[in-house]
Amino acid sequence: MHDYFSGSNHLSRREFLKALAAASGALLLPSFFSNDWLQTALAQLPTPPFWWSSLRDGHIYGPEQAHACFGLPGSLMKLVAASALLEEGLISPHQVLECRGTWVLKGKRYHCQQAHGKLTMAQALGVSCSIYFAQAAEVLSSHRFLQYAEAFQLNRPTRSGDGYLFPTQSAFRYSSQRLVLGLSTAMQPSAAQLLRMTRHIAKRDIAGFRPQTWQVLQTGMRLAATRGTAHNLDPANRLHIAAKTGTAPSGGTYQSWVVGYFPVENPKYVFCARALNGTAKDVVIPTASRYLLSHSWA
Ligand SMILES: [Zn+2]
Repeated sequence: MHDYFSGSNHLSRREFLKALAAASGALLLPSFFSNDWLQTALAQLPTPPFWWSSLRDGHIYGPEQAHACFGLPGSLMKLVAASALLEEGLISPHQVLECRGTWVLKGKRYHCQQAHGKLTMAQALGVSCSIYFAQAAEVLSSHRFLQYAEAFQLNRPTRSGDGYLFPTQSAFRYSSQRLVLGLSTAMQPSAAQLLRMTRHIAKRDIAGFRPQTWQVLQTGMRLAATRGTAHNLDPANRLHIAAKTGTAPSGGTYQSWVVGYFPVENPKYVFCARALNGTAKDVVIPTASRYLLSHSWA
């Protein structure tokens, strides 16, 4: 897929959006996407950008472009998948699935960087085990996944004029694995939407979700920040962070995100960082860590 943000390809924005529309079957795009403003705004993004917000007032601090910066969410969607699987009773929090490093389904091969062994869902979130979630997605329909993505408001802007992509239920005919692993080009949330999703998890404030579901999401994110994919965010545990990373291929390289909240005992802040070029481990985690550990949090 064309790297929308890199500017390394001369495909025009209009042509790109047309190609995306053809690929995804459904788009929600605000009219300002044709404006010069957006091109200028995206070109001015610091690399990589970091946003944060207080849970009290919800104001987003950081580059103005939190509302326009969107992309493949990668493994951040495992949080949505976990919610759907638990709330629908499709998998219990204690059920163990095994990761041997590779798994094949209908000719499609799924990989983890290592064999993670036997994992519960919280542990699978912590190490971001794609094989656990690819297997679990076998009992989760795309339709059901998208219902839970809607519960996290990924189908709605955070304010008028936001840029993001969300598939319509009727247009999405693929297996749920690509959605669960955040690799479907039809679904590309903005940084502002991901901050709002993280706020929902920190505050446990989606009506009807069971306490057990929140417990698994929060435990998984805490595991990620202490000994999983985000363990280099705050190695000395100064801020008591819970986090989730997401990396997705993009035009021969990778794009990535990290979202999180802290302190876990009584959450006050949420944050989101995005690398337009590089994996979570190599680019977005070191950047977010520098910001988090150098800022003086009240
Ligand atoms: Zn694995």
